[in-house]
Amino acid sequence: MQIILYDGGYSMVERQDKPELQCNNCNKPWWYDDFDSIFIQCPHCQGELRRVTPEEPFRHR
Ligand SMILES: [Zn+2]
Repeated sequence: MQIILYDGGYSMVERQDKPELQCNNCNKPWWYDDFDSIFIQCPHCQGELRRVTPEEPFRHR
């Protein structure tokens, strides 16, 4: 389990790996295998998801 802090709150998740996606709207972390479809949007707020990359890392609080 890990707790991921982001601007606006935190997520408690069972997995240990770093988030692959971040919502541009609510900043929640997500992973590709959270989704069945390739057309993905934030399940929390329907916001646009951004890929986390080394150049644009996850934005923590
Ligand atoms: Zn969102």
